[in-house]
Amino acid sequence: MVGLGYDVHRLAEGRPLVLAGVTIPSEKGAVAHSDGDVVFHALVDALLGAAALGDIGEWFPDTDARWKGASSTQFVEHTIGLLASHGLRVVNIDATLVLESPKISAFKQEMRENISRACQLPVQRVSVKATTSERIGFVGRGEGVEATVIVLIGTIEPR
Ligand code: MG
Repeated sequence: MVGLGYDVHRLAEGRPLVLAGVTIPSEKGAVAHSDGDVVFHALVDALLGAAALGDIGEWFPDTDARWKGASSTQFVEHTIGLLASHGLRVVNIDATLVLESPKISAFKQEMRENISRACQLPVQRVSVKATTSERIGFVGRGEGVEATVIVLIGTIEPR
C-alpha cells in the first residue's frame, strides 16, 4: 500500500527550524504548537494514510496532555509501532521539502539518518529531496515551508 502526506508551517523570525529532526541554523523557524517539523508531520500522515488509519490530528491532537511538548520524532516512532500492531512495516520513504532559504543540502544526509532510525528502516530505503519555490508563492516569499512524503508499506511476514 502507498500513502501520501503533506504538511505546511508558517515561518517567523526567532523560531527554531527543525526538519526531519535536524535543527538547521536559520533566521526563521516554524510557528507551531510542537517543534513544527513539517517533514516528520508529513511522514506521519503518509504512514497513517498507507494504513488507512486516519491522520495526524486524530492521533496526536495538540489538546492532548500526553503529547504536550513531545518531539515529532516521538510521533513518527509511535506511528511505526501502531503500524506494526496492525502487521504492517515500511518498505521505503521518499520526502520532498520545499523551502526558499536557507539551503539545506548539507543536512539531507542527517535527515535521512533520523528518518531511518525513527522508522527502523535502512538508510538506503530513505530519500530526502529539497527544492525552492523559485521565489513565488508563500514558500518563495519565505513565509512558509512545506513537505510532501510518499511511503510504501507492506505486511510483516509471519515467521
Ligand atoms: Mg504540522
